[in-house]
Amino acid sequence: MPSRSHKYIFVLGGVMSGVGKGVLTSSLGLLIEQKGHPVNLLKIDPYLNVDAGTMNPTEHGETFVLASGLETDQDMGNYERFLGRDLASEDYMTSGMVYRSVIERERALGYGGKCVEAIPHVRNEIIDRIERAAEKSGSTVSVIEIGGTVGDFQNALYIEAARVLKMEHPDDVLIVMVSYLPTPGTLGEMKTKPTQTAVRALNSYGVQPDFIIARSKEPMDAKRREKLAIWCNVRAERVISAPDIASIYEAPLNFEHEKLGEAVLEALKLPGKKRATLTAWAKFVKAATDTKAPELKIAIVGKYFDTGNFVLSDAYLSVIEAIKFSAAKLGLRAKIDWLNAKDFEKGKSPAVLSKYDGVIVPGGFGETGIEGKLKAIRYAREHKLPYLGLCYGMQLMVVEYARNVLGLKDAHTTEIKKSAGEPVVDVMLEQKKNLAGGSYGGTMRLGNYPCHLKKGSIARAAYRDELVDERHRHRYEINNAYVPALEKAGMVFSGTSPDGALMEIAELSSREHPFMLGTQFHPELKARPLAPHPLFTAFLSAAAARHKKK
Ligand code: GLN
Repeated sequence: MPSRSHKYIFVLGGVMSGVGKGVLTSSLGLLIEQKGHPVNLLKIDPYLNVDAGTMNPTEHGETFVLASGLETDQDMGNYERFLGRDLASEDYMTSGMVYRSVIERERALGYGGKCVEAIPHVRNEIIDRIERAAEKSGSTVSVIEIGGTVGDFQNALYIEAARVLKMEHPDDVLIVMVSYLPTPGTLGEMKTKPTQTAVRALNSYGVQPDFIIARSKEPMDAKRREKLAIWCNVRAERVISAPDIASIYEAPLNFEHEKLGEAVLEALKLPGKKRATLTAWAKFVKAATDTKAPELKIAIVGKYFDTGNFVLSDAYLSVIEAIKFSAAKLGLRAKIDWLNAKDFEKGKSPAVLSKYDGVIVPGGFGETGIEGKLKAIRYAREHKLPYLGLCYGMQLMVVEYARNVLGLKDAHTTEIKKSAGEPVVDVMLEQKKNLAGGSYGGTMRLGNYPCHLKKGSIARAAYRDELVDERHRHRYEINNAYVPALEKAGMVFSGTSPDGALMEIAELSSREHPFMLGTQFHPELKARPLAPHPLFTAFLSAAAARHKKK
């Protein structure tokens, strides 16, 4: 344990996954901080991948890159957005990381000849990591979300870690179970039994929840609350109703209304303001949920749409949120349509883009849909449709310009065509050996790097700053051999690494296009509800101007 008295809140899921453990964790973080205690939020993913970087977004949703460069789960994005600040590598843990440390230590004779076992060694490694994260952050309260559902085989060791911490420090550890109360259509009645069963499953680990967050379609009534209190052994005021909401950002306001923050602080014997300061947050929520705000139509041309509609928003989660924040700031509402790049390859006309106010090509990897994206980009350029290219979307914006403005028909990225006649986007020098050696995990150019902004550029005007930090995740870059020709033809490299060696932002001057800008980094990862990203705001302002003209 860190030397000062530290508090731990474990968030577990009961009944089924996808009921909002991440939103609860984020909301608790915001509420506890607004009541006066610094918090760190920690996500535990029980899979064996060492980080989330090697997973396909259609499998697991977006990979969220921290400032440190660690590739993590999208929940970390929600945590940062709710807290409004960066989290550290220590705030993320996977079973892959935990086992790797234990095995490396064993190979180095770090266990003094003992038989190394899941309990105590793996469990203790988990506890060490939780404590290290708390120490590093300087927080008073750590909220730790254990991925998966109670009863899963995979997360049992994490629940065991929570049990031991609570046994050793009963006043400093809380267990919060987020559960689900279904209302079967045939009955029309909200049922508590699945939650009772989930609590019993948790009891079989030797763990008793202190709080139950009852997720349901409609608000929970007093009768159900009492039933859960009696059968699950949890005081009624610690059974909290959490009905479905239109926007996840309403959650902290609802939880504050249900007095969750107050009850949690009381349970932890922490002093704190009775009411959390949520004025700015409430103002944002009001703007973000204003159904009367003028609507902009934004097209996202991407490729991770293949496993059914329900995952598509997950693959580009931060992009969607970044759009929402800037729209709310501008008093607008963004209606996002997903256009599959492959359809443009199959012959769909990019002229469908004419009904949109702006188009985004987000990040991506590999060949699928590339020529379709290039068609969309060409359309946006030629028809003066506001365009924002994110990472791959910037690289392809440069490929399109080289092909159709410079007349370099063989222009391509060597990610797709190794022998491209005009390799305008090429693999970064330090990445060559990674690719040659098959070293893919955690080896891209990752995390924060500084970017210098050119005077007089659209980017500089948007940021109102000269030097900014942005998060990266790529192996390829603009080939500097083509920069003079591209610049001569009208492209402006308005953001570069401070030494000028790496092209970080490409834009067309406002004489040529109202807003055509691409970034090698991922600005969406730094967009926050109360601090929208300036480039997204500039893009939406241009889209709004176009909308007005129409
Ligand atoms: N595939 C490109 C690269 O590796 C772009 C990556 C991205 O969009 N995140 O450079």
